[in-house]
Amino acid sequence: MPIRAWFPTQIYCEKLQKTALDRLNDDLADECARLRDYDDAGRKWCTANYPGGYTSYATLNKLHRFSSTFTDLEKKIARHVRIFAKALDMDLRGREIHMTDCWANIMPPTTAHGLHLHPLAFISGTYYVRTPKGCSGLKFEDPRLDRFMAAPPKISGARDENRTHTTYPAEEGNLILFESWLRHEVAANRVDEERISISFNYNWA
Ligand code: FE
Repeated sequence: MPIRAWFPTQIYCEKLQKTALDRLNDDLADECARLRDYDDAGRKWCTANYPGGYTSYATLNKLHRFSSTFTDLEKKIARHVRIFAKALDMDLRGREIHMTDCWANIMPPTTAHGLHLHPLAFISGTYYVRTPKGCSGLKFEDPRLDRFMAAPPKISGARDENRTHTTYPAEEGNLILFESWLRHEVAANRVDEERISISFNYNWA
């Protein structure tokens, strides 16, 4: 082929660990529910900023520093972040990676999370704790979308690598990592159960 792909956008998706995911997810789901009960300021913030749902993003966003369950989760995630950074050929100059933020998200029916990216980080991601059948996935946008300007739209059967969006299904026990500049969103949850996830940022210092 005379054509090669350059500058790919790479996304990592892997099971967090091979065994004992159910127990870990039960513990995390319990803890997320307790956080929501406890976090008056967070629930208030969500009324305006996360309608119908609960996220600790604005109030309890260093969960890995305050809860042993989340500290353990951080250790498990860090292994994957190192693998991802290595696959991206990143030279960390001998520095360490650090989880800087970690927050919980509970999405009941109708709650959505609009298009956004994660400033002040280099790798971000989400771990899935509860994903009722049919719940929304994680939709990513081609980072060059705003430059396409006069380009024609893609054909309906466009190959994966030529699409302008891709959606990863949310699956319990899966960890998704991406470079923090990559915009993404979660469409409104349309199923009658809560979708629970943990999001986080990593920096290197
Ligand atoms: Fe996000």
